[in-house]
Amino acid sequence: MHDSHVKSASQSLMDLENKYGAHNYHPLPVVLDRGEGVYVWDVEGKRYFDFLSAYSAVNQGHCHPSIVGALKEQAEKITLTSRAFYNSKLGDYDKYMAEYFGYDKILPMNTGAEAVETAIKICRKWAQETKGYPEISTKIIVAENNFHGRTTTIISFSNDEDARAGFGPYTPGFEKIPYNDLAALEKALEDEHVAGFLVEPIQGEAGVVTPDANYLREARALCHKHDVAFIADEIQTGIARTGALLAVCGSCTCEGHCERQEATYVKPDILILGKALSGGVYPVSAVLADDHIMHVIKPGTHGSTFGGNPLGAAVAMAALEVVKDEKLAQNARRLGEIFRAEINKYIDTSKVVSKVRGRGLLNAIVINDSPESDTAWNICLRLRDHGLLAKPTHGNIIRFAPPLVMTEEQLMQCVEIITHTLNEFE
Ligand SMILES: *Cc1c(COP(=O)(O)O)cnc(C)c1O
Repeated sequence: MHDSHVKSASQSLMDLENKYGAHNYHPLPVVLDRGEGVYVWDVEGKRYFDFLSAYSAVNQGHCHPSIVGALKEQAEKITLTSRAFYNSKLGDYDKYMAEYFGYDKILPMNTGAEAVETAIKICRKWAQETKGYPEISTKIIVAENNFHGRTTTIISFSNDEDARAGFGPYTPGFEKIPYNDLAALEKALEDEHVAGFLVEPIQGEAGVVTPDANYLREARALCHKHDVAFIADEIQTGIARTGALLAVCGSCTCEGHCERQEATYVKPDILILGKALSGGVYPVSAVLADDHIMHVIKPGTHGSTFGGNPLGAAVAMAALEVVKDEKLAQNARRLGEIFRAEINKYIDTSKVVSKVRGRGLLNAIVINDSPESDTAWNICLRLRDHGLLAKPTHGNIIRFAPPLVMTEEQLMQCVEIITHTLNEFE
């Protein structure tokens, strides 16, 4: 067994992170060194199926050759110009994004939280300029149990106390209402100073909470009745993860360049993207809106040194081409149905798992134990031992979100690992 005097390579690396890095995460004990497609390898060379996909940033699979190729090619040419000058990639990228997602304009940023901040700023300014709302009373409605990122403003409207407590004073101007509750939204919209409603089409971090089928459509209709912006945070649910290009596309299965005539599409007034926009290769995020909203952004009102850099632009275009070429939305939809059917078969006779839910390849199982118990964590440790990496979210929920390039055969292998592991806990 273990020689107690010789630390494994993994243990030494974990010790380094623990000694010199701030403890802002509690990682599963596994040290990853390499990735390809649906697989990752640890420093000892053991292979795993990745069922987190970097929180849905690597939908296109690890180190996708055409995305990495675009990165290399652009990196050897020019990487950063700042927006003080024009660059030869950004115009193409802006047009590509506007057409791909069906908006007049894009505002490019880097991380998800920055894009959410950007959307909040656009929404507030739009309401104040076009509707004359006084700054002091401009309000944005958000949902309970939301996750929109980690900045001071965003955590101000979180109800995760780990994320929030001790970081005040908080940014005012947000009102929380229950998720998937149209009556609560209708009531909140009675306040005439509401500028926007910011919502995740499926609440990923909250445990893959999917709303009723009509929720988004009705919510947008209510917003429009009150001339309020419907803002969708698709940072986790977007880019084919839920079996459509965006979760707001509903049952439309085309892969970008869609006329969006499908009756199920609920177009957000402001759309927020991040994560898989770059296939996990480089931080790229974006806010999209039509001119009647985006026109409030003028020189000096907003910016970022790296936002709109040519490297990110090249990477994002390559990442979105992969989504289209490899029909990732259709694959996610088909495999998601198989996955939930297989897990439901297991649940029929299970005492450990009470539920599987999700859409496309964004799924979660609910462990039949209290959120304070460590059962989900222990299951994830055993899954790791059996060659599959997943992470609990909100205590007793395990999210399963593999790269969308998975094959049916690989998925069935994973179902086998998952059900075999769960069985050890029955
Ligand atoms: C991950 C995530 C964010 C934040 O993105 P970062 O790149 O981590 O800042 C915001 N909203 C949602 C829904 C997310 O999943």
